[in-house]
Amino acid sequence: MMDFLRRLMYGRYGNDSLNQFLMVISMILLIPFFITRWRIFSLIILVLIVIAYFRMFSRNTYRRAAENQKFLSWFTPLQRKATGKKMQMADKTHRYYKCPSCKKTLRVPRGKGRISITCPHCKYKFVKKT
Ligand SMILES: [Zn+2]
Repeated sequence: MMDFLRRLMYGRYGNDSLNQFLMVISMILLIPFFITRWRIFSLIILVLIVIAYFRMFSRNTYRRAAENQKFLSWFTPLQRKATGKKMQMADKTHRYYKCPSCKKTLRVPRGKGRISITCPHCKYKFVKKT
């Protein structure tokens, strides 16, 4: 069985981040499909799965890798932003503010009352309750 799979996948592209993303999106779309029973959802799910399998069995590995690279250049910053927000929410000893001037994120200790915050990047001063 393993030998059969190995021979089947020989020279083919296989799985990557874009395929995993397509599969996750199609799994998420199952929820509204089961609730509403609208055929449009099943159609979208089918298209996503067909694309994912086409990419997986494709022999044009160079092109598939380029697609994945394009996807990652869009997806990685979003992912990084999401994990940053999650870490900020988990931090109970600090509060996070955006500098009104340069938009950089600043971390200040929580529970100090109204304090004047000086941005270390642009030296802009603003008052916030912590
Ligand atoms: Zn600033």
